[in-house]
Amino acid sequence: MSPFNPKHRNTPGSKITIALYRITQAITHILRERGKITQLSPTQIQSLLFLKYARPGVHTIGGLANRLGTTYATASGVADALERKRLIERLPLPADQRVVTLKLTPKGEAQAKMLEDILDEIEAAVNALPEAEQAALLRATQAIVQHLQHAGYVKVYEMCWHCQFFQKDAHPDDPRGRHHCTFVDAPLPEPNTYLECPDFVPAEN
Ligand code: SF4
Repeated sequence: MSPFNPKHRNTPGSKITIALYRITQAITHILRERGKITQLSPTQIQSLLFLKYARPGVHTIGGLANRLGTTYATASGVADALERKRLIERLPLPADQRVVTLKLTPKGEAQAKMLEDILDEIEAAVNALPEAEQAALLRATQAIVQHLQHAGYVKVYEMCWHCQFFQKDAHPDDPRGRHHCTFVDAPLPEPNTYLECPDFVPAEN
């Protein structure tokens, strides 16, 4: 009973599944259209946004490969292409010169800023729904994402504030950062707590 077969698309589950599929098609289309304007591939667009919003510790080829769900070699190729366009640069990590990090150049920062609105149309459609429908949709989509996450199809990146490894104001006078992450066992400066992290685990209430 495939939801791709219109004859079988007669249950809420199959109709919702195909609607979600169409939303992913819309996002792919939006990324391609924006890519034509910016001369960037959808993967390059996602990489620039990753480098803008992920915590600095994962700004590596491995971190990029994780985010894109690709091999290390593919992520390295994406980084090469962005470097040729002078949108990113490879820099050794000050604390460990053997580790190479990826950093947006000023041109890359400006480009990433111009890409931030790519989901606006979808957000506008959601915002047009009544509040109660938005709340129900939020619960439903979170449950679907959680299922897909457990199945290993998607990685959820979130910021620190509701993470079980986050210790707020653990060392308020430490110039390296007033908060602490017990996962990496390191201080967290305030701005970094608002970035996305692949190691986020929701705190239990
Ligand atoms: S593991 Fe949690 S606390 Fe640590 S950086 Fe990631 S989100 Fe923040």
